[in-house]
Amino acid sequence: MWSACVTKPDYDLIIVGGGLSGGLLARYLGAFRSDVRWLLLVGDATLGGNHTWSFHESDLSLQSLSWIRPLITKEWFGYDVHFLKHRRSFQSRYYSIASSDFHRFLVHSYGDRIRTETRVQKIFSNKVELFSGESLTAGCVIDARGLSDSQVLVRSGYQKFIGWDVELEDPHGLSRPLLMDVTIPQKDGFRFFYLLPWSDTRLLIEDTYYSRTDSLDKEEIRKEIRNSLCARGWKLKKVEREEVGCLPIPCEPSTAAISLEDADIPKIGMALGLAHPTTGYSLPYACRTAEVLGGLILLQPRSVKLALMKLVEEEKSAFAYFLFLNRMMFWAATDSERYRIFERFYRLSENLIQNFYRGRLTPWNQARILMGKPPVSVKRAVKSLWQNRDLNERVPL
Ligand SMILES: Cc1cc2nc3c(=O)[nH]c(=O)nc-3n(C[C@H](O)[C@H](O)[C@H](O)COP(=O)(O)OP(=O)(O)OC[C@H]3O[C@@H](n4cnc5c(N)ncnc54)[C@H](O)[C@@H]3O)c2cc1C
Repeated sequence: MWSACVTKPDYDLIIVGGGLSGGLLARYLGAFRSDVRWLLLVGDATLGGNHTWSFHESDLSLQSLSWIRPLITKEWFGYDVHFLKHRRSFQSRYYSIASSDFHRFLVHSYGDRIRTETRVQKIFSNKVELFSGESLTAGCVIDARGLSDSQVLVRSGYQKFIGWDVELEDPHGLSRPLLMDVTIPQKDGFRFFYLLPWSDTRLLIEDTYYSRTDSLDKEEIRKEIRNSLCARGWKLKKVEREEVGCLPIPCEPSTAAISLEDADIPKIGMALGLAHPTTGYSLPYACRTAEVLGGLILLQPRSVKLALMKLVEEEKSAFAYFLFLNRMMFWAATDSERYRIFERFYRLSENLIQNFYRGRLTPWNQARILMGKPPVSVKRAVKSLWQNRDLNERVPL
């Protein structure tokens, strides 16, 4: 008799937010969990926003790569980095996902479970209220709305950039990504161009800065991109798309992850602070999250929260080391010393570099990064371990 009074929720799971983490969770559930009645609610007109997400072959397991593969826009067999004093070629694969392809695939495959332009006003553990006034119930609701304004942003540096997808008049001659072209004048921190060749005449060109500030002079950077195209002898036919990014590179632990225990509603993605602390990239973490949650037999708030707490706990010591590196980079190093840190890093073994991007440095890797002639003053490095610094304040030389 009692069970007859219990109304079944509209869905087993509602995911609020169709960015990287929400979209990948939807993809995983769509591929492997036909038993789960899920719904993805997206505030914007498209899933994924306006990004190009890239990752190294070694960032993902073979299993992750297999289910993420349909979303991949382009795969390259190797990549290069160019510093003034040394150039290096890597043979491992590199992949990129254009958010337009991410959107197309997800809507094409699971369109009946996705509602775009649907802004959620309030989230509860078993219900969401939309701005339209409609309410939807679910066994579990997951918040994948990205970094919120109210999320306390710990002091951080920034990886900021403007990228253009361009069509050129003639072939550019690049056959693989140039992940860092640092043979350019340095300003506003550590600066490099990032180049992804989509085809013989199309490429993504990004002017990127590891900086103490989040301000971007967009007009100035657009001019720099035009100049760079010109300096490389490339004639611009058309700018097809522009993307702008400013990713926080934190120097202290994320408050989002700390508050997970007390949260009523499980969060994933940037809302949970799950991104590589030093690169700001979150794709490998979003994959792992999708696999862990998608593997739960019961998708209930408590089981989801416990699984997420375990995931965060597993990253804790790795993140602590990356936060330490960030402090070195933004608190201890001057702008020009930041260049030397990266140049030195790209002389290390390929295996260590892969582990770094994957967020899985071994104790030996961690020690190796710090060995040798330090690129920053030891006194400042030691001080940076406990001294909080206003990042806009110049470190005295
Ligand atoms: C230009 C750029 C390039 C990047 N390149 C890379 C890269 O190469 N590799 C990498 O790993 N990372 C990259 N990143 C970082 C990566 O994009 C973010 O870490 C990632 O998008 C975070 O995912 P998320 O799901 O937490 O949030 P988001 O992707 O920001 O998604 C948030 C979602 O929530 C939705 N939403 C928000 N509020 C509401 C609401 N009230 N109701 C309904 N929906 C709502 C939005 O519509 C959106 O769909 C890049 C970032 C930028 C800006």
